[in-house]
Amino acid sequence: MRVHQYPLKTGISRTPEFEKKGLATHAVNVGTKCGHGCLYCSTGAVLRMHPSFCACGENPFAFDYAIVDPNTPDRVAQDAARIQERGLVQVCTLTDAWAPEAQEHQLGRRCLEAILCQPGWTVRILTKNGAVAGDFDLIERYRDRVLVGLRLTGTPDEEEILKVIEPYASPIRERMVALCEAHARGLRTYGMLCPFLPGIADDPEQIDELVRFACECGAEEIFAEAVNRRGRGLILVQEALAEHGYHPQAQAIATIRNRVRWSRYIVDVINRVQHSVRQFHDIGKLRFLLYPGDLTPEDLVRVRKDDAGVVWLGKKQITE
Ligand code: SF4
Repeated sequence: MRVHQYPLKTGISRTPEFEKKGLATHAVNVGTKCGHGCLYCSTGAVLRMHPSFCACGENPFAFDYAIVDPNTPDRVAQDAARIQERGLVQVCTLTDAWAPEAQEHQLGRRCLEAILCQPGWTVRILTKNGAVAGDFDLIERYRDRVLVGLRLTGTPDEEEILKVIEPYASPIRERMVALCEAHARGLRTYGMLCPFLPGIADDPEQIDELVRFACECGAEEIFAEAVNRRGRGLILVQEALAEHGYHPQAQAIATIRNRVRWSRYIVDVINRVQHSVRQFHDIGKLRFLLYPGDLTPEDLVRVRKDDAGVVWLGKKQITE
């Protein structure tokens, strides 16, 4: 893993997109390339024009490297003190403050300290790394102002397959242990279930298991999202699975690269998640993030018939 350092300019920024999702009003990011290396990560596409890639001599769509700014907490501290209109900050939205290269500089902990020492801010942590548990002592001091979330991308029985797709993130069991510990220590938690990869995490029993687990960990809300069809993420996932001998799973990914099948897959996942949340939690706590633009007209009608828990996003936002 090559690790580059690059000085960024932003500390805390507004995030209208995450505000629409109900996740956060503000964002903090500790770099431009996350070392967890998830093959479906969309950050490379979002930040493809960012000068850090050229300066570091890297391709934004490639892997096996990270770009981090160790001075991020200094800018975050300045912004946390300067910004008058305070709100909910997500750490992070495009990278992961507990990824290995960020852990080297304790960026997660230092960003939390920088934000929380100022009144009026709350923080949503989103990570795929169990190392966040090392900062629970700090979070305990601000327990009412921090929401802890570990992204769950599958059940523990799929851990080996997920290692192929998310090579440097914590194994699912470690993420689960960290979320359990957060709840046991009386911290506020939420569920983040995505991307429900077909053939790996979209089976009704697997979805039940993940939803039930989030409930047992005291999740105040359960966010869910299906995999994004755009970009090269699905192709990379398919190729890596095939290369490691997971041919049925690779074929399941190949299937949803077709728009009509992807649309049907989304409808099925929404129905399964709604069913699980109704069974184990409260449908009013579900936030299924959905960009309807890629759904077929027929599937759009299907979802609209029962869109409990669906957060409609994008240009074709449905407002009725
Ligand atoms: S943890 Fe998130 S930001 Fe990091 S590589 Fe994976 S998807 Fe991208």
